[in-house]
Amino acid sequence: MTTPHAVTELPQWRQVEGHFRQVPYFLTREMMGGLPFEIAGGHIGDLVGKPVAEPHVHDVDEIYLLLSPEPGAAVIDVELNDAPGVTYRSPAAILVPAGVKHRFVTRQASQGSYCFGIFVLESRPGATP
Ligand code: ZN
Repeated sequence: MTTPHAVTELPQWRQVEGHFRQVPYFLTREMMGGLPFEIAGGHIGDLVGKPVAEPHVHDVDEIYLLLSPEPGAAVIDVELNDAPGVTYRSPAAILVPAGVKHRFVTRQASQGSYCFGIFVLESRPGATP
């Protein structure tokens, strides 16, 4: 291969169960000849106190990846199975196992803060059943 395989028409918007609006996807399983993961999500700088979804469930693992220009500038509460949210500061990667009801709520986020959901479509080698 001499040229990179690039996808530039991004994001791809999809309806996802439990979400209030269409969700921006940056990588999907159909891209680049088939990928074992998908990445969705985006900028959260204007989403403080505004959840993007009702608590919902996936049949695959999801990893929240929380990023911001400066460490600590993004803060989310992750709610699992209706328990009170657990607070995480950027940078952070948080595993939501398949079948667990979840959502995140942004508590603080500077401009340039992002939260992505990485959907792991194939079983992880180190996963405990
Ligand atoms: Zn989710």
